[in-house]
Amino acid sequence: MKDLPPINFDERGLVPVITQDAQSGEVLMLAYANQEALDKTLATRQAHYWSRSRGELWRKGATSGNTQELLELRYDCDEDAVLYRVRQTGPACHTGERSCFYRSATGASGASLAEVMALLEHVINQRLQDLPEGSYVTRMHRRGKGYIAQKVVEEAGESIVAALENKPQELIAEAADLIFHLTILLRESGITLQSVAAELLQRHAQPKTD
Ligand SMILES: [Zn+2]
Repeated sequence: MKDLPPINFDERGLVPVITQDAQSGEVLMLAYANQEALDKTLATRQAHYWSRSRGELWRKGATSGNTQELLELRYDCDEDAVLYRVRQTGPACHTGERSCFYRSATGASGASLAEVMALLEHVINQRLQDLPEGSYVTRMHRRGKGYIAQKVVEEAGESIVAALENKPQELIAEAADLIFHLTILLRESGITLQSVAAELLQRHAQPKTD
């Protein structure tokens, strides 16, 4: 691991830390760290902060179990703000919400592509686990992998037809159906969208010449 550069701590010896879900890109929380919290975070790969209200070092999830595994630590251009990119277990916020920023003052939300994909997968996982009656995913699950696979082919076919007939709105709808069913098929096969993303990233990092 690279050495942490000198961080410009404020007069209290603190630096603000933004914590982000490394997979979805979602901003989870804002907290503060001192040198010790940063050192502990890097040494243990578990997010540590400095509590201004309690005046003590704390490890995220020490009491709640909602830990944050550090995947990457970044710092900004002025070296006076830090970004923890983490794998979050459970909710990050003490209210039980996934993110502390769960309220919006402007209404309309602008979710990122990664957030939408993470949400889609999360909902499908939840349905496959709970199998609620009346749920479409439950019905797909009961019909089995072969049926789901057939649906993927069907939606792929409909996407192709919409594309070839130059119907952009239909293509969007069919592509959404395709991605939805493909995600169910992946989850039924024990594959996460993250593994697919990792595969794509690897191909991007090592482009083939042919
Ligand atoms: Zn919170």
